[in-house]
Amino acid sequence: MFIPKRIIFEKDSLQYEMAKDILAKFKDNTKIEIINVTSNKLKQHIPGDDLSAQYREGKRTLVVGTKKSLKFQSCKPSAHYQLPLVSGCIGQCEYCYLNTKLGDKPFVKVHVNIDDILNQGQKYIAERLPDITIFEGAATSDPVPIEPYTHSLKKAIEFFGSRKNARFRFVTKYNDIDSLLNLEHNGHTEIRFSINTSYVIDQYEHFTASWDKRIEASIKVAEAGYPTGFLVAPVFIYPNWQNEYHDLLLQLRRKLPNNLKFPVTFEVISHRYTTIAKNRILNIFPNSNLPMNDEERKFKYGQFGYGKYVYPNESINNIKQFFIKEIEELFSNKEIKYII
Ligand code: SF4
Repeated sequence: MFIPKRIIFEKDSLQYEMAKDILAKFKDNTKIEIINVTSNKLKQHIPGDDLSAQYREGKRTLVVGTKKSLKFQSCKPSAHYQLPLVSGCIGQCEYCYLNTKLGDKPFVKVHVNIDDILNQGQKYIAERLPDITIFEGAATSDPVPIEPYTHSLKKAIEFFGSRKNARFRFVTKYNDIDSLLNLEHNGHTEIRFSINTSYVIDQYEHFTASWDKRIEASIKVAEAGYPTGFLVAPVFIYPNWQNEYHDLLLQLRRKLPNNLKFPVTFEVISHRYTTIAKNRILNIFPNSNLPMNDEERKFKYGQFGYGKYVYPNESINNIKQFFIKEIEELFSNKEIKYII
């Protein structure tokens, strides 16, 4: 469970039960600074003399506030809409896609007006009837490590569990899922775990749950009847990558129960970066050895108009062939959603 260094309560947030619960939980902990703000100027309360320090202090800051705009962002291709329960993440993965999205002080913010958010979700569901509407709960966050005191995922899972025409999904690198195991999800929520080889986790991920803990959590949610999936991302090509990804999938196969109610899903994403991300990563992690040599990559324009450096076609094809073969051979009840 995430224990923040400071908690900033936005003006009016303490009218909501979630904020009151968070305050009650942490107010007597003398190691945690509690800050009440009356303006929108949050960042002045987060210290740090340079980008690296600001990043680390931001990651240890929890902001408790409301979601003001209830216009949900679209979330193609994984869902129709983002469900804005939380923004930010306590993890410090060097390759993280959020590194360029959350500013210099990337705090974690929980939205306490969850009832407003779910009511808005209901409106989007009604607009698309009779089609099913899918919501993604981790588009700009990892909501799991703060779930023990927000209970936002619990509320969302129960909400979507009672809606015939709605589905919910989220992905995590954490294991704080015990409070989700006995909910009435009705198979409407898919829980995915982001996994990688020990080499990648040890080199590039910091402050995430260990591989074993993620797998243990995935088994628990699968046994609780949730549709369960794995995001293998980002995939790196390095010496021995095929053997190590094979071992990863083999161990997964051995540990997962055989009698899963739903096919286990796989999403596989090869490593990519933008120039902006590369510059920021090298500022925050000056000793990073993430492979970001532009000459070894292919430049590709993305759907949002900016370019990114991806592996060359031959490498992408190797990744695709490798994962299709491995997953086909190792798993019987499975679905490969995409490999990119
Ligand atoms: Fe980013 Fe996921 Fe790592 Fe959090 S756990 S820092 S969201 S990659």
